[in-house]
Amino acid sequence: MDISEKPVVVVSKCLGFAPCRWNGLTIHSALVEGLKAEVHFVTLCPEIEIGLGVPRDPIRLIKQKGEIKLVQPATGRDCTQAMEDFVNSYLSGLETVDGFILKEKSPSCGTRRVKIYPGPGQVPLTDRGAGFLGGAVMEKFPHLPIEDEGRLNNDKIREQFLTRLFAVFRFRKRRKAFS
Ligand code: SF4
Repeated sequence: MDISEKPVVVVSKCLGFAPCRWNGLTIHSALVEGLKAEVHFVTLCPEIEIGLGVPRDPIRLIKQKGEIKLVQPATGRDCTQAMEDFVNSYLSGLETVDGFILKEKSPSCGTRRVKIYPGPGQVPLTDRGAGFLGGAVMEKFPHLPIEDEGRLNNDKIREQFLTRLFAVFRFRKRRKAFS
């Protein structure tokens, strides 16, 4: 498909494209479904990309000594470096993108308010922040519309997101026409 014809949106793959969640399920997003005809979706599951299978033991954000890590408590696996390497490599290779729709609350995809724990055991959360991909996307693409599917259930947020998305797309098309 010619990606100059539709907005290009990177989307979390579990939002209706593949049953890749830790428990083997997928999440239905009415907005994502509705946009399939209007948008060119580029699907991505960072946890699959770093070799975590399906189903898998959940991973979580852990903050210790001021440093945030991505760990799998059931196995003791530290996924931090693998995820950082993948996210850096993926985002730096992304040539055309007009926006992002990412899964909320995920330690990988979440953009905000993701639970952060002080350790791997049965401990209460102590903080909230962004997941590894979600945080890096917000940092690298501050000029683009970036939302999670939960916030997009809000009428006003959804309208703002779509307005920005199609404005960015039109601008990209126009710039290409003059280049
Ligand atoms: S939230 Fe992100 S990492 Fe988790 S299953 Fe969905 S796409 Fe994969």
